Order: sequence, then C-alpha cells, then structure tokens
Amino acid sequence: MSLSLSERCDCVMQSEIRMMSIECARHGGINLSQGVCDTPVPAVVREGASDAIEAGRNTYTHYAGIASLRAAIAMKHRRLYGMEIDAHHEIIVSAGATGAMYSVFQALLNPGDEVIVFEPFYGYHVSTLHACGARPVFVTLQQPDWSFEPLDLERVVTARTKAIIVNTPGNPSGKVFSREELGMIAAFARAHDLFVITDEIYEHFLYDGAEHLSPAMLDGMRERTVIVSGFSKTFSVTGWRIGYAICDRKWASSVGYFNDLFYVCAPAPLQEGVARGLRDLGEGYYRGLSEEYGAKRDRFCKVLEGIGLTPCVPRGAYYVLADTSRLPGKTSREKAMHILLTSGVASVPGSAFYHDRGGDNFVRFCFAKEDAVLNEACRRLVKLA
Ligand code: PLP
Repeated sequence: MSLSLSERCDCVMQSEIRMMSIECARHGGINLSQGVCDTPVPAVVREGASDAIEAGRNTYTHYAGIASLRAAIAMKHRRLYGMEIDAHHEIIVSAGATGAMYSVFQALLNPGDEVIVFEPFYGYHVSTLHACGARPVFVTLQQPDWSFEPLDLERVVTARTKAIIVNTPGNPSGKVFSREELGMIAAFARAHDLFVITDEIYEHFLYDGAEHLSPAMLDGMRERTVIVSGFSKTFSVTGWRIGYAICDRKWASSVGYFNDLFYVCAPAPLQEGVARGLRDLGEGYYRGLSEEYGAKRDRFCKVLEGIGLTPCVPRGAYYVLADTSRLPGKTSREKAMHILLTSGVASVPGSAFYHDRGGDNFVRFCFAKEDAVLNEACRRLVKLA
C-alpha cells in the first residue's frame, strides 16, 4: 500500500466560496462572496464575553454547553415560536451551526443513507453529507418563488432515504418556506418516516413581512425534526463558533457525544457572551436586523437591476442570486471572474449551489456589509452596465 489520501477527500474539495475569496484578495477586490457579516457585534454580547474572560471562565464547559446559554436558547424558542424545549436534554451547543450539523449527521446517518437536499443548496450541507458517507439526492426549486411540488419529493425518495434537509430562510436563494410548503414536507416526512433536519441560522433576517416557521412547530413534528441554528449571523460573530442543535432527547445525547468527540465544547467565554445577548436584547434588536438588512437588500438589488444582472429578490437571509446570462463566459465561474476583473467585486459562481449545470447563469452576492463597503461595491458594479 502506498501513501495516499482517504477516498473522502475526492468529495470534500475546497469550496468555490473560499476560492473566490482568494481570487478577490489577489485582485484587491471587494469581497461579496463569503457570508461574513462585517457589521458591528452588539455591545452586550462583547461585554458578556469579556466579563467572562475576566472572571476566569476559560476552561472546558459541559459538552452540550453552559446551562445559562441552553436556558436562554429555550427561552428564545418559547418567546418567539411558542415551543417548549427541555434545556437540559434537548439542546446541544456546538462549534457553530456547522459543528452542530456535523454532530447531528454523525448521530443520525449511516454511510449509504440518502438525504434529500433542495437546490440551490448551501455547499456545506452537501459536503458534510459526503464527509459522513451519506448520499445527497436533489430536488430543484423552481423560480421565481423557488417552489416545489409533493411529486418532486416522491420522485426521489427510496428505501434508503433517511432525512430531508430544509434551510429556511435559505442560502443562497433567500427562500422563506411557507406554512403550506412545510406542511407538505411534514406530510412527506411522516409518510416515509424521515428526519427533517432544518437549518434556521437566518431566522432573524426576514423581509417584506415574511414570517419564520420551523417544521418543528407543525403538529406531530417535534420527534422527527432537528433544528440547527446559531449566533454567527444574528450577532455578527462568525469567528466565535457558537451554534446549536435542538432535538428530541432520544437523539440529543448521541448528538452531544459526537459534539464532545469533535469539538469537546464551544468556546467557554463566548458562550457567556451570546447568552447575555439572548437575555438582554429585546424585540427591537431583531426587528432592527430585518430593517437594516432589508434596506441593504433593496439598495443592492436596485443596482443589479440597473446593470442588467436581474436579481432573484430574496425574502430572507442576506444573499442575492443574480442572472448573469448577458455576461461573457461559458460557466458561472468564468462569469464571476469577469465581474471581479471588470468591476473589482467578488461573487460566488452559481455552480457552487447546484449538483449539475443548474447554476450556470447565476452568481451569488452577499450584502451583509457595512454601508460604506456596500456603497463602494455598488459604485464599482456600475462599470458592468
Ligand atoms: N448554515 C447556513 C445556511 C449558512 O449560510 C452558514 C454560513 O454561511 C452556516 C450555516 C454556518 O454557520 P456557523 O458559522 O454557525 O457554522
């Protein structure tokens, strides 16, 4: 046997997003490719973390997270969504939503299991499935509303299907699943005895009066639904790595064991910071997020419209897919490079969000930027007109 990498390295390659960030840095561009919000961290969150460091809270925590953070997460879900969650047995705090998702997949999926993924998808969902030896199968959402039919789900389900992933509000589409759509998914999951794993990290980024609903809120769905969410986006702390999973206690202890194995615990003082943010920030903060990002969305989409890169206007999250059919280039990667070289603004090629050629005419921009940066990006993009 010669020295070699594992076979799973073939499926888990450098993401297009990272690749575009590197290209962006090389060309001195403005990076609207990565979902890194550079908006300020709320003062209470920062103070909560620094107070915890000063107080010496620097050692390992319980693998499922500090009790006060789990209590604050349970309280948030009660207040906003009317859900009763057992903070001791049904919440696992992890290294971001990414860590929570990986721990959930490890606990619930066997190699060879099939998992239904809506596309356009968030690449980490698919790569993490591959890393676990599970097989993603795709249901393509149809524009303009990113809709689907129950039949689309029935067509791909097999005896090996174990779960379906929902991402609402969605990255990159900005789709906010309606009650009716979640009802269809719930009925399908019950009929085929599937888990519904739902990534809700953009739950507070909602526009045009859109309402966030979790599949777990629908009748009879608690046992089979696993919620994954986190604080990277809500508190602009992508580098802190704090997220969580909520699920029935039947699954939670195994999710927790994998979390312990991979990450031991989430960073101790930073857990204190987000716990304080959850406790102290009121409705106004969350409403403010939607208003602030809604205004950024409107401004940015108007520029895209003006230069003929028609946007699919998102109802949630903070990305926009733009139609690049009119730009030169055969692939979305060539088109994204054309945008970078002509205007100095980096985007992500649409191919990053589809398993086939479905994304060829899209690029994705992230508009979670401070106004000065977003304004400069808008000014530069006009060069493409
Ligand atoms: N889930 C979705 C849909 C995302 O878009 C992202 C980041 O872009 C994440 C999860 C990552 O979350 P975290 O930083 O908590 O790992």
